Amino acid sequence: MSEFTLDDLPLRDELRGQAPYGAPQVPLPVALNVNENAHPVPAEVSADIVARIARALESVNRYPDREFSELRDAFAGYLGHGLTRDNIWAGNGSNEVLQHVLQAFAGPGRTAFTFDPSYSMYSLLTLGTGATWVSGTRNADYTLDAADAAAQVAEAASDVVFLCSPNNPTGTPVSLDVIEAVYEASRGIVIIDEAYWEFAPKDQPSALTLLPGRPRLVVSRTMSKAFAFAGARVGYLAADPAVIDALRLVRLPYHLSALTQAAALGALAHAPAMLAMVDDIVVQRDRITARLIELGYTPLPSWSNFVMFGGVDDPAAVWQHLYDRGILVRDLGIPGHLRVTAGTTEETTAFLDALASLD
Ligand SMILES: *Cc1c(COP(=O)(O)O)cnc(C)c1O
Repeated sequence: MSEFTLDDLPLRDELRGQAPYGAPQVPLPVALNVNENAHPVPAEVSADIVARIARALESVNRYPDREFSELRDAFAGYLGHGLTRDNIWAGNGSNEVLQHVLQAFAGPGRTAFTFDPSYSMYSLLTLGTGATWVSGTRNADYTLDAADAAAQVAEAASDVVFLCSPNNPTGTPVSLDVIEAVYEASRGIVIIDEAYWEFAPKDQPSALTLLPGRPRLVVSRTMSKAFAFAGARVGYLAADPAVIDALRLVRLPYHLSALTQAAALGALAHAPAMLAMVDDIVVQRDRITARLIELGYTPLPSWSNFVMFGGVDDPAAVWQHLYDRGILVRDLGIPGHLRVTAGTTEETTAFLDALASLD
């Protein structure tokens, strides 16, 4: 133990009083708190990934391809929409990719913005670059209207605007007319974070369809959720090639290790197998929603792999009740609400049964 605290250090002023990202990591049997994919990577895919990593190790005395060109090709192929490698960037998790965007376009004297509640890392990453954080508001049901969203964005005049679609922690979808209106009202970079896009209804258009002709628009994705690859740390984005050039200015040289590139290429080569559980997870999500309504809660409509639900009189007490039964959910401090990830059928049953057993 140290006898010193942060107060004893010459810490940057904007970091004083900040708390680090802190979703509890406790080894409970049923972990439904950080929206991971509960299904492991299929055995035949992990065998191929191991073989690819073994090949990469043969030349690991050399630096990796700094431009990760093969991986950018693979992401472009996965995303479609006529994208090529010149449109693609990647990092060690989409958090790093978002940090690159902020390092290039935010920073001291600048501001970044989102509509709260949203993903808590946006403000932490922003403050980490020395920029100022500004938050806007949502409708009472956490949706956004194009006109109101555009007015707030115009007023804030931020250098970077985050729009999480569907939104974490609420699961709320964001329609393309909101994104278009926010883009028009903004003079800065507009990042659409589609971390959960694979769980959205398949007939819905992604923000990728809006990229042509919008050089300030960025669409980020991750392999952490639908791809069941959270531990590998791989995130990516699509944007105009000029944006990608800006990100090259701030990344660390060789930031994506040869092993990470090999693993991500292996996962993408088996995308259908990696994504095979998405439909199953969506079934569990919809089952959670239906059962929560029966139990008298008010779940929010979700396009993601989790459900936020209101009508919880004492979220801390319900969180503890579930914890004591080996089930970890998320209390994000939103009054009357908890968030639960859709797990396997068994995990989902354990959660719903434990919740139903509350007095
Ligand atoms: C989980 C999540 C991410 C992904 O983070 P990684 O760094 O790729 O693991 C990004 N955005 C949101 C909103 C998330 O919930």
